[in-house]
Formats: sequence, C-alpha cells, structure tokens
Amino acid sequence: MLAFATLTEPRLRTAIISDVHSNLSALETVLSHIDGQRVDRIISLGDIVGYGPDPVECVDLVASRCEWSLMGNHDFGVLYEPTNFNAAAEQSAYWTRRQLDGETNRATAEKRWNFLGRLRVRVAFGSYLCVHGTPRRPINEYLFPEDVVNSVIKMRQIFERIDLYCLVGHTHVPGIFTDEPDFYCPSDFENVYTMRLGEKVIINPGSVGQPRDSDPRASYAILEAEVDGQADKVEFFRLDYDIERTVKRIHNTPELHDWLGDRLRQGR
Ligand code: ZN
Repeated sequence: MLAFATLTEPRLRTAIISDVHSNLSALETVLSHIDGQRVDRIISLGDIVGYGPDPVECVDLVASRCEWSLMGNHDFGVLYEPTNFNAAAEQSAYWTRRQLDGETNRATAEKRWNFLGRLRVRVAFGSYLCVHGTPRRPINEYLFPEDVVNSVIKMRQIFERIDLYCLVGHTHVPGIFTDEPDFYCPSDFENVYTMRLGEKVIINPGSVGQPRDSDPRASYAILEAEVDGQADKVEFFRLDYDIERTVKRIHNTPELHDWLGDRLRQGR
C-alpha cells in the first residue's frame, strides 16, 4: 500500500468506488472515466456483488484494478450467509455463489474466493477510516441522510469513532456528512467539497451499480488528499452508462427478480 510519508507527489488522488453490485456495464463505464482522471489508485468500499447479473466479471475487475476493497454486507452474504436480506436479495446471493462456484478452472476459482475471503472490514490510511457501513457497525449499519435530523445520538456516537475523516458506502446515496451534524448532496456544493480545518466529515461516494437517490447514473468520487490531511477535497461524478444492457441481463436470468432490473432505471 502507498505510504503517505514516502509520497513524492504532494497530493494523492484516490478514486473511490462503492456498491458495484455485479453491474458490469456501470463498472466498465466508471473505470474508463477514472482512466482519464490521472488518479494514483482506486479503492472500493464493498458490495462488489449482489443484485446484479455479472458477479464473476466484476470481482475480477475490482481485484485487478483496485488497490483494495472492503467487505460489504452482500460480499459477506455470498461468502458466509445472507443475513436480514429480503427474498430477492437472498436469492441473488445464492445465485451469485453458484456463479463463482461454476468456474471450471480450479486455480481461478480459488483465486476469486481467496480475494473475497480476504476483504477487510475496515482500512485506515492517513486521516481516513474506511468502512462499508458505519464505524460503529462496519458491515451492516446504514448512515442515512435523514439521520442528521432523526438520530442525533447515533450521529454523535458515529462521529466519536472518527479521528477526522471517514469513507462509507452501503446506502447508495452520495454526499457529505459533517459533525454539526448535517448532510449535503453533491449538488449543494457543485460536486467539489473542500474540507475545513479541524472539521470531521464522512464521505459517501454513492453507488456505481445501483444508485438510490432517484438518479440512475453511476456514481463515484475522487479524493485529493494532502499528506497532513488539511484542505483535502473530494469531487463527485455521475455518469450515464448502458442501463438497458444490465436490465436485459437481469431479466434474462430467471433467478434474479425482474424488479432488480426495473429499479435501476429509476435510480432506486
Ligand atoms: Zn450495497
């Protein structure tokens, strides 16, 4: 892993992707956009698989393109057991496991399972803590924008667990939480947010493969970090991708509920 102390470049540019959910069409679009952005590395906040039609290809792409990925609840569900999943999500987890098990080349199958099995629950670098859910319950807890109004104690307990900055996924809603507490959508700050001195923030890059903020376009972010963690900034991106390619693949897979495809068109 890149160590901040050994950086020759003053600023480290990190592309942050999350919640790919086996949507190859969205992942390919995001990765090719990232290729034009001069980033130093790509990291993934988890949920590579689940819901979508191309788990094997997405696992291979994340494994080869990302410096590391976190363990999401859907990755956990496929590896171990789906917990608190609705019927469609549970069925997709078992179907995903069968796709990974269907690999006839034993070395390849083993490599994929080893990659998934070694996904970490939390990763820290510089002033950043990274989890799929929240620092309190890293795999399963959701941090929703409305929590800043409805769950003040939850917000306080979560911010108490953060030194300065935190990266999360899981809700599929992009934006920034500040410790006031408050939540800002990327449109509130014209897609670029610069951290203020001493301000604690939690950043959610949104979802590559299954956005849930009523905008169906793929979402990701690029973080530009200083060695000392001051005046870091994050830029959010939304990209059109071939949604119908993924919807068609889901509709042609009997084990995947049609609704999993339909909702991609609405960004829900
Ligand atoms: Zn997810």
